[in-house]
Amino acid sequence: MSNPNNGRAAVKTTVLVCFESDAGEAPVREALRLLEAGEKTDPNVRWFDEGLLAAKLSGPLAPETEGRLKRIPGVQRLAALPTGRRLGAGAFSKAESAVPLAAGASLGDGGFGVIAGPCSVEGESLLLEIAEQVKAAGAKALRGGAYKPRTSPYSWGGLCEKGLEYLVRAREKTGLPIVTEAIDLEQLDVVAKHADILQVGTRNMTNFPFLFRVGAHPAGKPILLKRGFASSIEEYLDAVEYVLLGRLLAGAERPGVILCERGIRTFETATRYTLDVASIPILQERTTLPVIADPSHAAGNRKWVPHLSKAAVAAGADGLLIEVHTDPEKAWCDADQTISTDAFRTLMEELRAIAPVPAAS
Ligand code: PEP
Ligand code: MN
Repeated sequence: MSNPNNGRAAVKTTVLVCFESDAGEAPVREALRLLEAGEKTDPNVRWFDEGLLAAKLSGPLAPETEGRLKRIPGVQRLAALPTGRRLGAGAFSKAESAVPLAAGASLGDGGFGVIAGPCSVEGESLLLEIAEQVKAAGAKALRGGAYKPRTSPYSWGGLCEKGLEYLVRAREKTGLPIVTEAIDLEQLDVVAKHADILQVGTRNMTNFPFLFRVGAHPAGKPILLKRGFASSIEEYLDAVEYVLLGRLLAGAERPGVILCERGIRTFETATRYTLDVASIPILQERTTLPVIADPSHAAGNRKWVPHLSKAAVAAGADGLLIEVHTDPEKAWCDADQTISTDAFRTLMEELRAIAPVPAAS
């Protein structure tokens, strides 16, 4: 069939304009005026209070408009991408998207790593003991929740700042980077200050302003964003985009985002959630970002954690996030799904047969 545009159909464009934080309203108005005068815009224009304008054009961004936009005082960055294409899909290479862990290990771009530790930080010496044991088994980062999002307000909510302090000490003693969750804006600064990788949990995947602010946080730490347990892959990728827009606004050179399949809610009740193994290659095809799996929250039962770990690795996961404790039955949070340090060591040995698991260091 012949193409009326001779193969050159106008590419709709989304233009992203980032402003200095103290730029005020005037440069935004000027940018909008230029975009509306120079190109035909869809009505869909968004202005985030934080200083980002996203405007959809019916065609490409003209070089003159681009130049004029860049010269508006208060504009600090400009990006344009075909409308419908995500930043996560092609704005960065796989190499730029890889996230470093301990001892030269990394997640993504061929790197494989395991993040392990208790669901929640319970005490300093216990955390250190777990950290040393998972490190000896080959883990390249330590996980542990200091702030816990809990379904019931009567459940253990974590040690909060004390928990962060213990994580920092465990890092000092073992050299393992620490992965811990921020659950809202109130503690974002303190978590971003101490964590090496900031976790955003499944329940926050649809908290869009939070995602944007986590991405834009000046500390610039990598973010481990879990898939919402009731979210489709497309919705997950859109959530990732909020984080990446934050990154763009903050002027980051790299995306620093790790995706994590942690199970979705289905009609099945034999497991806590259903690990969507297919999401791993699909996310890898649709983004450049590292994709890991969390078999612990998916299984909800420590018996199935090794099986799901191997399934995820066989599907091509770039890493795993596993809940481990020296005395799992007594863990204060997520005990049923937490494996022992012995079971973790065995699992790591078994994984070596199917994945490039780095040696202990
Ligand atoms: C966790 O990692 O302990 C956690 C709360 O995870 P999720 O957000 O996947 O439930
Ligand atoms: Mn947990």
